[in-house]
Amino acid sequence: MLPLQAADENLICRIAIRVRGQVQGVGFRPHVFRLARQLCLSGWVLNDAAGVHIEVQGEHPERFSQALRQDLPPLAKINTIEVQEIALRDDEREFVIRHSVGGKPDTLLPADTAVCPECLAELFDPASRYYQYPFLNCTHCGPRYTVAKALPYDRDRTTLSDFHMCPECAKEYRDPCDRRFHAQPTACPHCGPRLSHSPPEIVKRLRAGEIVAVKGLGGYQLICDATNADAVAKLRQRKQRDAKPFAVMALNAPSLAALVRMSAVEVALLISPERPIVLLHKDKSSTIALASEIAPGLDRLGVMLPSTPLHYLMLHAMAGQPESSQWLQQGLPAYLVVTSANPGGEPLVFGDEEAYRRLANIADTIVSYNRDIVAPVDDSVVQQLQHGPQIIRRARGYVPQAIDLGREVPSILAVGGHLKNTVCLTKGHQAFVSQHIGSLDNPATVHAFEDSIERLRDFLHIDPEIVAHDLHPDFISTRYAQGLGLPCVGVQHHHAHLAAVAAEHRLAEPVLGLSLDGYGMGADGSAWGGELFLLQAGTATRLAHLRPMRQPGGERAAREPWRMAAAILADLGEQVQIPARFARQTQAVQIAGMLERNLHCPSTSSCGRLFDAVAALLGVVTHNRYEGEAAMGLQSLVTEPSVLPGSWSIDESELDLRPLLHSLLTCDPVSAANRFHGSLAAALSEWVVRHAENFDIHKLVLGGGCFQNPYLTNTLMHNLRLQGVDALMNQSIPVNDGGLSLGQAWVAALRQVG
Ligand code: ZN
Ligand code: ZN
Ligand code: FE
Repeated sequence: MLPLQAADENLICRIAIRVRGQVQGVGFRPHVFRLARQLCLSGWVLNDAAGVHIEVQGEHPERFSQALRQDLPPLAKINTIEVQEIALRDDEREFVIRHSVGGKPDTLLPADTAVCPECLAELFDPASRYYQYPFLNCTHCGPRYTVAKALPYDRDRTTLSDFHMCPECAKEYRDPCDRRFHAQPTACPHCGPRLSHSPPEIVKRLRAGEIVAVKGLGGYQLICDATNADAVAKLRQRKQRDAKPFAVMALNAPSLAALVRMSAVEVALLISPERPIVLLHKDKSSTIALASEIAPGLDRLGVMLPSTPLHYLMLHAMAGQPESSQWLQQGLPAYLVVTSANPGGEPLVFGDEEAYRRLANIADTIVSYNRDIVAPVDDSVVQQLQHGPQIIRRARGYVPQAIDLGREVPSILAVGGHLKNTVCLTKGHQAFVSQHIGSLDNPATVHAFEDSIERLRDFLHIDPEIVAHDLHPDFISTRYAQGLGLPCVGVQHHHAHLAAVAAEHRLAEPVLGLSLDGYGMGADGSAWGGELFLLQAGTATRLAHLRPMRQPGGERAAREPWRMAAAILADLGEQVQIPARFARQTQAVQIAGMLERNLHCPSTSSCGRLFDAVAALLGVVTHNRYEGEAAMGLQSLVTEPSVLPGSWSIDESELDLRPLLHSLLTCDPVSAANRFHGSLAAALSEWVVRHAENFDIHKLVLGGGCFQNPYLTNTLMHNLRLQGVDALMNQSIPVNDGGLSLGQAWVAALRQVG
């Protein structure tokens, strides 16, 4: 019973509050409950399809809505609060939490979140009933997106619904003052999921050099000892992954400090609840003997901290199972290679039956548990640039956070591109970009692509009215879009890259756009990837481009950068150097001949191919074993970008870098890498500034995979800002092709609503 008898009856009123945003599954209702009781208000709170609905009655209920805005549970995000005074009721005496109401959901499902400090303390507290239980979680942490089958988010719509809560769990779940009040996936050793192998058993196998497939939060991960070169080599060979870098997991920042250099901002990214893989510079003086095959030829290493209780239990076993919790803060010289179990470039394995089928030839041991994962979600990858963090792969921890477009748009499905595919669905003023799906070059990934679209549609209860796709007619995503029987909007690849930035920054006014990318089909059908555009009202006008290069043998030149280098040599009048520089390539003479006769040498303005060419000219990489290998190898040489003044020229429509390229022929690789990065950034900023002045538009969006190069991006952004250009990039989605779907949706929206 609450004291509702106010001194003055006239002071009592009742308000209804509608809260939208990330407010379900984050402990919002118990928070509301405690606040209402604190302020001696009666009423109720419930989850419904639109978010959270609250009614409170008593003296000064406005204090309640003010407090609600100011103090939120850790994972909650409020988009809007609407408050309305309503009629008093005289039939209630206390504040209660009511049952959820279904209907068409218009609310956000939270992303999966790394184990929180309170749960971590319980995990290693022998007195806790959750002691060493790998599936503990609470309202502030644990699985969400990967276990939710539908919305509203309630236990019976998660994959925990088959686990009947024991009395103790049920008591915590029902107690509004408990951290596990309505924690939908809550579970304990008595009633929850079970692991197939104990952590010490897993560690024994890792120590023996085994590759262990461990069912993680969003799918299976392949794990081995990062200091065991044979195990790492075996993993590469079995996973059929030649050279693409692996990520390394360690217990905490002090443990990572022995491997890599980190700023405070980077440490904050590492320990954030999203717990992404963060790309950091290798510490060249490190005494830790990591297998050299982890990130061959690169100056950076992808590292991450544990995100699930099971990761912590494995590291605890590696530490010799210390009893005091001190070990969590101390450096631990234990390092694990942790990589997605996606054999041969196929999608992440997340089903148990599938794991035994597809991972049997890769893993020596398969560690599983009896709770299903609804959808595959990889680890996310980010890097810190000078202007802020940049997401390279957006998945666990970030999906399904919505992007607020700042205006109502029709329901649009955008199907993305071909590589690093994601899809996007808009609803109201929000865009939902799927997790990283992968490259649509095998049937399994295409299947995952279709599943992702279905799941988004189910979650959002949306039937799209329009479908947006790339201009390339042969992309599987394009064909899928055109087969839906909906009005289609084809969006040029680089227009989509730039529109993705405009969407995130809610820019509808005319802006300039610079795209530096690998490949995208241009509006004229040729290969683009280094262009300046004017973007306005859903259109992109190509103003200028990098001087086109020839691609001997067409697409094959993207896999064989030495061919691009040969084309550059021919372009510089140095074709005589081709056979000698590429003596080890059996086709060197033939390619020189093709260039001379200009046979099968389509042109490209791609900046990615330019990086390939320079890398091969310097002898860094002649063949790309994975996308971007040459460019990453080149960037790894950079120590301090430098500028060779006057090594470029700009005319009406072209940026010509031939003098710069010519000067590199006689440089050592490190000086050449420094000069190339610095001069390219200087040339690009001069190019942009000229157009900015011509059009009197000083806002620029930048997009495309080349902006993942930190030296190019940091230098260019710095130059542009010095010259008064407001340069903007993606913040919440990747600059690479993972961001195309959002850009396609934004262009389609602008063309509809103007
Ligand atoms: Zn927790
Ligand atoms: Zn229990
Ligand atoms: Fe692209």
